[in-house]
Amino acid sequence: MSERQRRNRKPGMSTRAIHEGYDPFENRRALTAPIYMTSTYAFENAEEGGAVFAGETPGFTYGRSMNPTQSLLQERLASLEEGESGLTFASGMGAISTLFWTLCQAGDLVVCDQILYGSTFAFLTKGLTKFGIEVQFVDLNDADQRAQALSRKPRIVYLESPANPNLRLVDIGAVATEAKAVNALTVVDNTFATPALQLPLSLGADIVIHSMTKYLGGHGDLLAGTVIGPTEITLRLRKEGLRFYTGATLSPINAFLVLRGLKTLEIRMERHSKSAAAVARLLAGHPKVSQVYYPFLESAPDHELARRQMSDGGGLVSFELKGGMEAGKDFIRALEMVLCAVSLGDAETLVQHPASMTHSTYSAEERAHYGITDGLVRISVGLENPEDILDDIAQALERLN
Ligand code: PLP
Repeated sequence: MSERQRRNRKPGMSTRAIHEGYDPFENRRALTAPIYMTSTYAFENAEEGGAVFAGETPGFTYGRSMNPTQSLLQERLASLEEGESGLTFASGMGAISTLFWTLCQAGDLVVCDQILYGSTFAFLTKGLTKFGIEVQFVDLNDADQRAQALSRKPRIVYLESPANPNLRLVDIGAVATEAKAVNALTVVDNTFATPALQLPLSLGADIVIHSMTKYLGGHGDLLAGTVIGPTEITLRLRKEGLRFYTGATLSPINAFLVLRGLKTLEIRMERHSKSAAAVARLLAGHPKVSQVYYPFLESAPDHELARRQMSDGGGLVSFELKGGMEAGKDFIRALEMVLCAVSLGDAETLVQHPASMTHSTYSAEERAHYGITDGLVRISVGLENPEDILDDIAQALERLN
């Protein structure tokens, strides 16, 4: 990016996603940043190696904790999320597990919102608790429950907004303000909204995490994760978490693929949001549908909050059919173009049944308690022509009894 551009004003999101941190004239004039496929780095001698390891001289030590392709991606991610620095991981779960295992210790309390991605829920309830860390699930939008949980002084308050699978929103600003007062870190999984639609750090959160497997990669061809926040924390996650605890390192080639995906993030999110809003409207007006969850529908209960903390609704729509779970399964079977698969944020429109797929890690009682109903169907609206997506959904609905 030229000095002239920098001096005048802060470049927009797509401009930063395309240019930030890379100058072709410093890289043999290659337009696209190279992929550094290396596991280790050469030193002049042991003294220099020792100084780099000690952090006295800048440089790269070993591929488990650092790589130049990752560094460029981390710089761009921090810029997009308006954070101090970023760190990348082999998957979203790699990011989440490294974060908790590095920042928490036995005796700590973690407070979580009640609706979370199934594997995150499994990690928190089984992976963390087995090491003496207490995890309390509450409705973070309920002021009383929130105050009671925060009064116990947790180390971390963790939430997704919009949440997987029912797109419920949490008031990020309200949670972050109250968490700060008790010195708890607010961590937001921003996978569904992406920085193109929501900036949790600007709303007061301390740390953002992503499964970059989804919209940031954007093409269903990689697994990747990130943590963005204060350098003090990302440095610790790299030096302790990645190096010694999880080793959940992102491969250079996948770092490159995410860099490529980021270049079109903003325009992809516009198209995802526009098509998903049309799908939500179709479902909301259909006689066989009992409930639609899409935060940007005017009729959504959290519509006002959605307008306050998001710039658009994103690409996911969840809904329930009047015929319940069986009708949901028949609907999925009746689709012709839309594919039945977990994951989201890809070019392809995908449909799945959370109770038997992504959220089968919750017991039936837990799902009932937290409001993840058996009849819920989740659609990740892709980038096909919107009329083809709508057509397929409409014909599948028509074929239901
Ligand atoms: N967070 C959310 C909201 C997700 O939907 C997922 C995966 O579906 C993850 C985290 C975990 O990411 P990954 O599959 O990249 O490990």
